[in-house]
Amino acid sequence: MTMGVTDLLAHIPPPAVRRLALRVRPAAQRALRQGHPWLFEQAVIQQPDTPGNPGDLAVIFDDQRRFLAIGLYDPTSLIRVRILQRGAPATINQTWFAAQLAAAAARRAALPGQGTTGYRLLHGENDGLPGLVIDRYDAVLVLKIYTLAWIPHLTTVLAALAEVIPAQAVVLRLSRDLQRQPVWLHGLADGMTLAGDLPDAAVRFHENGLCFEADVLRGQKTGFFFDQRENRARVATLAAGRRTLNVFAYTGGFSLYAASGGAPEVVSLDLSAPALAAAVRNFELNRHLPAVAAATHTVLAADAFDALTHLRQRGQRFDLVIVDPPALAKQESEVNGALRAYRRLTHLALGVLAPAGTLVMASCSSRISAADFYATVEQAAVEAGRPLQPFAHSGHAVDHPIGFAEGAYLKCLFATVR
Ligand code: SAH
Repeated sequence: MTMGVTDLLAHIPPPAVRRLALRVRPAAQRALRQGHPWLFEQAVIQQPDTPGNPGDLAVIFDDQRRFLAIGLYDPTSLIRVRILQRGAPATINQTWFAAQLAAAAARRAALPGQGTTGYRLLHGENDGLPGLVIDRYDAVLVLKIYTLAWIPHLTTVLAALAEVIPAQAVVLRLSRDLQRQPVWLHGLADGMTLAGDLPDAAVRFHENGLCFEADVLRGQKTGFFFDQRENRARVATLAAGRRTLNVFAYTGGFSLYAASGGAPEVVSLDLSAPALAAAVRNFELNRHLPAVAAATHTVLAADAFDALTHLRQRGQRFDLVIVDPPALAKQESEVNGALRAYRRLTHLALGVLAPAGTLVMASCSSRISAADFYATVEQAAVEAGRPLQPFAHSGHAVDHPIGFAEGAYLKCLFATVR
């Protein structure tokens, strides 16, 4: 298998030697100077007659023909160029990539000492490599790309990666958009092992001392939602003695933390049966912890909206309810619908929340601002006659730095209900 991939990688046409020179609108020049990592298609006012291929390097000039930035060109994307470097020209090669990867690794250097061997090693634009995410699952690295522009650079990035963070295996994941463009993939496919050897798709790692497994080939994102690590840790501190419901539980991250924090009973609710099966295995992996062994864990495979209604009707009440839905607004047109869904979820969650219970509500929709999200949830609680007393608002963990406005997507509200 690895042999086949090596061949595929070797046959990917390299980026053009000649860099594409682009001139762009004044507003885009300002945005680039201020550090924005994207150049949109409509901002380009002058480009060479023969357009480039995905992954060619584009150099952007200002009106005085001075160098502004260099980035990865992608004619198939509305984000025409993703900026790699601004201000001063650079040679984009293995050394350059290795320096970016080393800087990203240094930002996370404290995590393994905290019992965390699964985390985001490189967070795309926020770590200087736009459209590229690398998640570390102990000795396995998962490289996920969101633009075809990375394909011709993969060999170089892999070499840089091997220099900085040697791994047992490097797995490739492709965003959904990319999977629809086979011509430019040059035979590469989602889930291929690019380097090393992956004996099993279920990879084990630790997070704050808890053991998890994740399916790095088929799991959502790259297999696990590392962005919620600190919010999960906070849940553990709130869970002692409290009956807990984890809505949109996925593989039981919040559930396991609640159990480890002393919740006697935990219910994991999710639409996905395979995700819940993994949640059960994740509990098994931590049976050696007395608190986890003592907790009763139940899974409920159902639609969250339906199940919350049924639980309320059956008189089920929980002292701690966590609601962490998938991104509800992926585009601007979905914002109002998403806010309505957050309102509805708040009502439903309060319907099963015991008196003096704690509600944890998260949003990972980048289109919804933190202010709008908190206001929506708090307003819904007032309507329900159960106003919230928020005691924490939290966002991104250290391995998900925020490098530009669109990079801030995660917000989480912790509140007590009277
Ligand atoms: N809280 C999780 C991540 C949640 S991801 C963690 O910390 O790991 C969102 C989850 O919502 C996914 O597992 C998906 O299967 C589930 N989901 C999506 N729509 C749903 C619905 N209508 N009802 C229940 N679960 C749903």
